[in-house]
Amino acid sequence: MPGHDAVVALLDLSHPLTTGMPVHPGDPEVRAVPAATLERDGCNVLAVGLGSHTGTHLDAPFHVHADGARLDELPLELLTGPAVVVDVQGCAPGSAIGWEHLAPHAGRLRPGVVVLLHTGWSARWGEPRYFADHPWLTTDAARRIVAAGVRVLGVDTASPDPAGSLDVHRVVLGAGGVIVENLTGLARLATLPDPHVGFFPLPLAGADGAPVRALAWPGTPAAGQVDMP
Ligand SMILES: [Zn+2]
Repeated sequence: MPGHDAVVALLDLSHPLTTGMPVHPGDPEVRAVPAATLERDGCNVLAVGLGSHTGTHLDAPFHVHADGARLDELPLELLTGPAVVVDVQGCAPGSAIGWEHLAPHAGRLRPGVVVLLHTGWSARWGEPRYFADHPWLTTDAARRIVAAGVRVLGVDTASPDPAGSLDVHRVVLGAGGVIVENLTGLARLATLPDPHVGFFPLPLAGADGAPVRALAWPGTPAAGQVDMP
């Protein structure tokens, strides 16, 4: 597009929202159907029904803590930051991701960064095992991430916890942090210099979570970091 050459490219890390898309067992089915059509009504309008934890989405502390912050009480600044991508693609289905996987990145874990666990499990989106058999983070590793000041954890699986558990949720959300689930396309972050990410939820008032548009972009070096000729 002419005139758009200077615009920073954005990568989309979100699954599309569609009727009948995969949902966590027990969650509401997704339905997006025409409520009005060009032919009949002069314009197109969809009627959309979905759960607050549909597709690529964000968990607010209120998801598992009665007195936790609700979605609209979270500062938006919390939801963007430099990404610390942990490559755990070698982890077997159903296996644990422990502190030993995080330790090489320990020097970068601090307030303001977003920790992303790149398991590669998003390739199984749509398969029955997607919601049941993913790699998961140990509670000990979650505690250490939180102790380092990190408040945003993203995964390309249905949950950082194994199916049936919410232990990591309680640790991260209990610290006032958030969890982003069902990310996709994390391999493309390796193409970005200094990848930054942002998660932009629908502004559902008082909600426990919401679908997000998850985006990534190349970070800009701070003035002091630019190499002078
Ligand atoms: Zn969730």
